[in-house]
Amino acid sequence: MKQITLLGATGSIGLQTLDVLRLHPEEFSLHSMAFGRNIEKALPLIKEFEPRLIVVQDEETKKSLAGHVSGTPILTGSGGMIEASVADEVDVVVNAVMGSIGLPATLKAIQAKKLIAIANKETLVTAGHLVMAEAHKHNVELLPVDSEHSAIYQSLNGERKEDIHKLIITASGGSFRDNTREELTGVTVKDALNHPNWSMGAKITIDSASMMNKGLEVIEAHWLFDVPYDQIHVILHRESVIHSMVEYVDGSVMAQLGTPDMKVPIQYALTYPERLNLPITKQLNLEEIATLNFEKMDFERFPCLRMAYEAGRAGGSMTTVLNAANEEAVQLFLEGKISFLDIEKKIEQSLEKHDRIHNPDLSTILSIDEETRKRVRFHLN
Ligand code: NDP
Ligand code: MG
Repeated sequence: MKQITLLGATGSIGLQTLDVLRLHPEEFSLHSMAFGRNIEKALPLIKEFEPRLIVVQDEETKKSLAGHVSGTPILTGSGGMIEASVADEVDVVVNAVMGSIGLPATLKAIQAKKLIAIANKETLVTAGHLVMAEAHKHNVELLPVDSEHSAIYQSLNGERKEDIHKLIITASGGSFRDNTREELTGVTVKDALNHPNWSMGAKITIDSASMMNKGLEVIEAHWLFDVPYDQIHVILHRESVIHSMVEYVDGSVMAQLGTPDMKVPIQYALTYPERLNLPITKQLNLEEIATLNFEKMDFERFPCLRMAYEAGRAGGSMTTVLNAANEEAVQLFLEGKISFLDIEKKIEQSLEKHDRIHNPDLSTILSIDEETRKRVRFHLN
């Protein structure tokens, strides 16, 4: 029986992780869960899964929740997430919070030698060098939950790193894949939240529309698989049937295919190296799909992807700035304070203004993150 700590239990990935746990009660049990402020969503989950520890974002939420939950300790903030992640009985930490808030708990969980199932790409984008260094030092494996990285992980299947020619990450194109840049000027939050293939949290759906999601995934792949940026390619693949591929030096290309259902990569991360039955809603029907399409990515049409490659190649603190500027700008867009195209402007300005720090430690990363967010939010340029 694997004991799970689930960070981000009320989110899109969190709820689907709980679906997987429900399917296999003999295999998994929920030890702890963390969420932000959404008590309404959390309460039925707490009743059903009876976690031993609950973590919420702040004291106010703790107070409101305490009236409904008796006997279960409630902790708060990053410190609470750390405690829930390093508890002795915990085997696996699923990091499915939104944003780089998941970084400190991930580092501590690695130090405590917990297996990490990582959905939270912002953690690797903001501090991949620290996370991977800790993982190597403590001999801890990070199992990807992001569908593209799960596909790459499955396509690598223990092959030698030196035999990789390139990683090919597929992109569905997001909500605006058929719009020109001119047509993006007046798009609304509602338009942007309307993703053609996947149902996800708000922030990642906006990231998909701006193509920053793919940029973050390129950086995530760089860290997870230790492959240089020149060997990571992105290709537009509207059907989201091939979740990503690995091309080897002999020209062989391995791919992982499936219907767009996040429960597949979530469960794989939890059961690896084994597989368990998963009654997915719709089986992949290749005869029905008939054709798969691929297009070259246009870096002018999608400047966020270009900026992510540039920040990744520049390295050091540049990806921390990229991530923090993006998180804050997306939040401003969701609040209706800036336009969709302002997101990329704010990121570009933040990157231009920043003087790169070569090998930032955790406290430097946290302060650059905070400074960048403040600049994006309060200097409305
Ligand atoms: P959601 O916005 O749906 O969920 C985010 C979760 O994090 C919620 O449980 C939220 O709680 C919690 N949370 C937010 N802020 C805090 C905080 N300060 N402290 C504790 N918990 C907090 O996001 P997604 O599930 O879509 O995405 C989660 C991560 O997984 C992201 O990094 C995303 O990029 C990645 N990912 C998501 C995919 C998807 O299909 N959704 C696919 C691949 C990767 P509350 O509900 O209370 O706000
Ligand atoms: Mg993805």
